[in-house]
Amino acid sequence: MQNRPNKKFKTRIFRVFIFIAFVPFLLISYNSLSIITKTRKQNIAELQALALETAGEKIKKFLDQKIETFNLVVSGAATDLAEIDAANLNHLIDSIQAAAGDVLEINFIDKNGNEIIKRVAAENLPKSNISQQPEFKATVAGKNYFGPVVYTENGPVMQMAAPVENKDKEIIGAISAIINLNSLQTVIKKIKLGNTGFVYLADSDGYLIAAGNTKFGSAGDNIKPIALAANVIAGNFRDGLAAGDRYVNSLGEEVIFAGRPMGKINWFVMSEWPKKDAFSAIDSLIKQAVLTIAVSLILVIILSFFITERVVKPIEALNHGAEEIAKGNLNYRLDLKTGDEFETLGERFNIMIKALKENQKLRDEFVFIAAHELRTPVTAIKGYLSMIMDGSFGQVPDKIESNLKIVNGANERLVQLVQDLLEVARSESNAIKIALTPLSITESVKTAINELKAAAGKKGIKIIYEKTAEDKKIKADSYKLKEVLANLINNAIKYTPAAEADKPAGEKEKTIKIKHEIDGDYLITRIKDSGLGMAPENMEKLFSKFYRVKTDATANIEGTGLGLFICKQIIEKMGGEIWAKSKAGQGSTFSFKLLLA
Ligand code: ADP
Repeated sequence: MQNRPNKKFKTRIFRVFIFIAFVPFLLISYNSLSIITKTRKQNIAELQALALETAGEKIKKFLDQKIETFNLVVSGAATDLAEIDAANLNHLIDSIQAAAGDVLEINFIDKNGNEIIKRVAAENLPKSNISQQPEFKATVAGKNYFGPVVYTENGPVMQMAAPVENKDKEIIGAISAIINLNSLQTVIKKIKLGNTGFVYLADSDGYLIAAGNTKFGSAGDNIKPIALAANVIAGNFRDGLAAGDRYVNSLGEEVIFAGRPMGKINWFVMSEWPKKDAFSAIDSLIKQAVLTIAVSLILVIILSFFITERVVKPIEALNHGAEEIAKGNLNYRLDLKTGDEFETLGERFNIMIKALKENQKLRDEFVFIAAHELRTPVTAIKGYLSMIMDGSFGQVPDKIESNLKIVNGANERLVQLVQDLLEVARSESNAIKIALTPLSITESVKTAINELKAAAGKKGIKIIYEKTAEDKKIKADSYKLKEVLANLINNAIKYTPAAEADKPAGEKEKTIKIKHEIDGDYLITRIKDSGLGMAPENMEKLFSKFYRVKTDATANIEGTGLGLFICKQIIEKMGGEIWAKSKAGQGSTFSFKLLLA
């Protein structure tokens, strides 16, 4: 019972600790993590935009470098390419091919759109003469031309055309070339986002030209099924840039998307950055935070356990001390060595117990002196009363005799009380004199029964002695043992209501049964009555000084509440034990055990 409130206190302290340690910690962690995550999101978007820009620039540079090699100025003053002889043109083709690289077909076209010379380095190429297209006219008028991407077995190819000028900056024809765009793959591959993010390039019809990750797809694949990519191509994004949106790609991975048009040329650069990779730094931060929280939770638990122990232990000790005092153990002393207020409290507690003990001693002494002083007069009264009633001082008139009997009865009780008080005082000062000798218990039981049989008989109670251990001898003080037996049998009679003179048929006979039992080295004596019995809650203090059960049934039964206390003192002094079992309305059994001789 005493532990429950303490445990509550412990849990309370514990909760406070957890609260103080964790709530701010969790809030700070949560806030900083959300700020970090937000920043990281921005960061990712910026990084992606930057990657797209870089990719765009690199691709433009690639195309510009190619076209620059075609932007020829021929040294002569010829006004049309047709005027320049084939050997010279072939020579020019050689040098352009070497400079441009990736050239699959090269074609000189005169001002009128006629092919003058053509060199083909690959098969199955798209139709190369663009002289009839409006773009060619623009080329001849001085503009570079970038044709649509065509996806061939050699990879994505593209036709480019550039004007050819003479030394007077006059346009004299054009160079048309089909170049292989496979090298774009290398350009794009170099642009990386984190560990696994990559960039890809698509044309205005949604076909893939090159991708930084070959698993993503190969040239010519339609990327329009990727809704975000399709949207970018359709020009559905503000500022032409889409970033931060996520989708699950064909590899089943959640990725962050970004995409934008390239500007001058009608192509689109886009990127995919696996979310896991993009947020890997944050993930490890979260992991670290969780670990830190877990570790500090354990530390706080350990710490608060020690602190609560430190706080609760002295309280428990005080609690225990108070309990001992309540039980009457005034020799109990607290030993709190905490070096703080608790230690002072412990010392004060001890001083308090000491004062209580001194008080008790004074009271006991007072009781002893009072009882001792009372003994002589009450014994004298007893003697004289018996002499008067015997007629030693002459015939007593009937009227006086009946009153004398009442006086005698009251005096008997007074004598008993004085005797009890003296016994208690003696036991308290350890002055009960016990002389243990081997004796047969039956003798003592018989004497006690003989003395009380008449009183039992008056109430219609039969005392039955079931002698089961006659020959056994025990170690006891014969006089004190008789006192115990008399007390217990007397109680059994006292607390058994008198049998009705005309008891209804079937009602049990009122009896007091006494018997013995051997229990190892001990002999148990049981005194069983069929009396009032007691409820369990009334039995807790049964053997305490002055304790009496207060019920309607016991209200008119006289007594001091000292008998059982004295019995306990005597039995324990003789090295034995005494106890009782009872149920309200069902009689009681008082038992004691003493060592066998
Ligand atoms: P007293 O009998 O003088 O009151 P005791 O110390 O002998 O004091 O007994 C203490 C109390 O225990 C009694 O007041 C009584 O209520 C209860 N008691 C003792 N013996 C019995 C018994 N045999 N049956 C029922 N109650 C008993």
